[in-house]
Amino acid sequence: MRFFEDQIRKVTPYTPGEQPKMQDVIKLNTNENPYPPAPGVAEALNNMEADTLRLYPDPTASKLVGAIADYYHVEPSRVFVGVGSDDVIAMSFLTFFNSDKPILFPDISYSFYEVWADAFRIPYHKIPLTETFQIDPRDYNADCGGVIFPNPNAPTGVALAADQVEQIVRNNQNTVVIVDEAYIDFGGESVLSLTEKYENLLVVQTFSKSRQMAGMRIGFAIGSEKLIKYLSDMKYSFNSYTMNRPSIEAGAAAIADDGYFRGMCAKIISTREWAKKEFRKRGFEFADSKANFIFVRHKSAQARELFTKLRGKNIFVRYFDQPRIDNYLRVTVGTEEQMEKLFTALDEILAEQ
Ligand code: PMP
Repeated sequence: MRFFEDQIRKVTPYTPGEQPKMQDVIKLNTNENPYPPAPGVAEALNNMEADTLRLYPDPTASKLVGAIADYYHVEPSRVFVGVGSDDVIAMSFLTFFNSDKPILFPDISYSFYEVWADAFRIPYHKIPLTETFQIDPRDYNADCGGVIFPNPNAPTGVALAADQVEQIVRNNQNTVVIVDEAYIDFGGESVLSLTEKYENLLVVQTFSKSRQMAGMRIGFAIGSEKLIKYLSDMKYSFNSYTMNRPSIEAGAAAIADDGYFRGMCAKIISTREWAKKEFRKRGFEFADSKANFIFVRHKSAQARELFTKLRGKNIFVRYFDQPRIDNYLRVTVGTEEQMEKLFTALDEILAEQ
């Protein structure tokens, strides 16, 4: 290796789910929402004058921050927005996890946590989930540099009750605890209200899943004024203009339509509950999911083979070649029609076994 290469900060990047280029695929591999954003989003974008793009956006994104603050009944000073929750969480790692002690997260979880920890040279310790893929709050009573976990967890879909999340926050008041609620709107119990009680709690959510806007890249965090100030200071030391003008407009429009939001979440939840029954009928097992995906294992068929055969039929699901979960498939809840096609394809594949 050349000398200059020794000095380079090297990282092993996160691998996102495949984004196939061809049309006519059933895409159940990246937990996107199969429904369009609220009608007001298209309207807001259509009403934008291209000429305004000459000007930098509002660095405080106050229109979007204000809309989120109103919706969740918090002061705008307790809201931080970013380019997807990935941006918000990456910024949070950089800001809050600054100790020689390891941060804690589950062994089976969002694999980006490990990537950020490595990139920022943050020591970490992965806490094994129980046999049934549960987070046991008692495992997080340790002298540590911070805690992060998704609730519901990904890729398992398993949710932790709010009082159990609180137990983890209460027992770690000397460090920052981040609860990644990317999938909370599909049936989990949010701990947003606990951010009033615990200054060290940061709750992160996204517009990518329950608000159908993965392509727009909007995420946010709610926490104490103190945490949000530290986070903003870091952001302004990095890039003042993370939120572009269309994101601010479209995001505010999405928040404004609560009826659409609730209706679409209810639709996903009802399709998920029906899909659980369909999976069970076909010999699949899974821990109960409160997210917009189900993490399934078949009683006899191998996950990798099912993944490949489904792909051959233009149906994309997610397979993780990782310890403990290499015989599971994570299947995003699509429309009922997409799920019917998935089950028909599975019937054909399983009949050949
Ligand atoms: N957290 C979890 C647990 C996720 O699964 C995802 C989606 N990949 C994210 C955060 C990031 O989502 P986004 O950046 O689209 O908000």
